Amino acid sequence: MIVTTHDRSDITPDSPDVSSDPPRWMAQGICAGHTELFFAPHAERPPSRLRREAAARQVCMRCPVRIQCRDHARAHLEYGLWGGESEAERAAAGYAVPAPIGGRTVAEAV
Ligand code: SF4
Repeated sequence: MIVTTHDRSDITPDSPDVSSDPPRWMAQGICAGHTELFFAPHAERPPSRLRREAAARQVCMRCPVRIQCRDHARAHLEYGLWGGESEAERAAAGYAVPAPIGGRTVAEAV
């Protein structure tokens, strides 16, 4: 999820995710201003979550830094939907957060 702006002149989708903070690829994310799609609101019910995540995933599928974003979220055990991948999907891939929101299990991800 991207909520920052930076000079984009020297960034390409393949730019390495070196130790810059935030990572340089984040400047190319197309989700700025849409935080509500990527993170669960309090007490979100499963049908609402599925609709929200589907809408977020559609944004991610058009994003030029989707793979970097997904890999970042996996490496940092992020919450929310990153790179088209939900928290539950990351858990199923072996990158579970310590305390899943809503107590979701890996089995619910698939
Ligand atoms: S892949 Fe999705 S969450 Fe990641 S920067 Fe792009 S739009 Fe945002």
